[in-house]
Amino acid sequence: MTSVHPTAVPFTTEDYAARMARVVEDGRAAGLNGVLVTPGPDLVWLTGYQPTAITERLTMLFLTRDREPTLLVPTLERPDAEAAQGAPATTILDWPDGADPYDAAQRLLRADGSYGVSDNAWAMHLLGLQGALPATRYQSVTQRLPMLRAIKDDNELARLTAAGAAADATYEEILKVRFSGRRETDVAGDLADLLRSHGHEQVDFTVVGSGPNGANPHHEAGDRTIQEGDCVVLDFGGLMFGYGSDTSRTVCVGEPTPQIREVHEIVRQAQQAGVDAVRPGVACQEIDRAARQVITDAGYGDQFIHRTGHGIGVTTHEPPYMIEGEEQGLVPGMCFSVEPGIYLAGLFGVRIEDIVAVTDDGGRRLNNTDHTLAIVG
Ligand code: ZN
Ligand code: ZN
Ligand code: ZN
Repeated sequence: MTSVHPTAVPFTTEDYAARMARVVEDGRAAGLNGVLVTPGPDLVWLTGYQPTAITERLTMLFLTRDREPTLLVPTLERPDAEAAQGAPATTILDWPDGADPYDAAQRLLRADGSYGVSDNAWAMHLLGLQGALPATRYQSVTQRLPMLRAIKDDNELARLTAAGAAADATYEEILKVRFSGRRETDVAGDLADLLRSHGHEQVDFTVVGSGPNGANPHHEAGDRTIQEGDCVVLDFGGLMFGYGSDTSRTVCVGEPTPQIREVHEIVRQAQQAGVDAVRPGVACQEIDRAARQVITDAGYGDQFIHRTGHGIGVTTHEPPYMIEGEEQGLVPGMCFSVEPGIYLAGLFGVRIEDIVAVTDDGGRRLNNTDHTLAIVG
């Protein structure tokens, strides 16, 4: 299974500087003096920096109106921070172990300021800042920073496309392995090996839900031995070049029953309807409605028990969400899953999932393997 894998074009210092400038500007538009970002997906997107271990030691990026982007790190982690791709676009300051990090941090803030805080900030750090600067106000940027991050540039789209193609190659090859008589965890191991062999540096999940286990959307893989006649949900993904893949197909071990065929066809049509609804300006909830309508019309509305999709980028699961009530409009460059399912307790489940990128006039699938019900051995 040797294959020539694509390479990624590195992000430039200017790419990272532009992302940070957008966050500062967005904060200004929201009336904030700045936005504070701790380790997690926002920091990875903004700087490429991901501490090897996220500990109680404060690491914080200050994107404020008053100064150039400043990254405050523990002294012992300064070399790692300096090595991050986006580091040249920041000023790096450090605080020595044993010192008070909130004293160091408060020097970078206005005593009467108003700051946005990234969703991944630990409570102990926010409370530490509040203790140091009691008159400063903090607010969530859940509806702002992740929505900036949701709109991918061409380099990010190329990485997501490559990750999707690797997941597709994994699916093509898993169809050739033996399912019957092996445990779910065995097939899950095959999926992980295939994802890595096709270029993923990280595998996040390999769901193999056979028979009744497929009816639990959160089942991963267990000791159950896969049997002839089983319907099997496969859902797998991870990171390639730092960007995510996430795809689902449902297969049958041997000849499917009429019920499996019927339910699979309904989910296939629902997934198509969800993808067909994608275009700029449409609210996220409309994607959910389009897919859900097909399943509800077929009489299985109560068995579709989760949202239709989620964003994907530097993580495999992030905003925006394709769910009733989410009025965020789609923007070209957004990438998210469309993954309706039907779950029949005690019997089986079916889910079909592709990542879709919003284009100027519609949506483009980043997963392109066959949607019909595959028969495996
Ligand atoms: Zn291969
Ligand atoms: Zn998935
Ligand atoms: Zn997903």
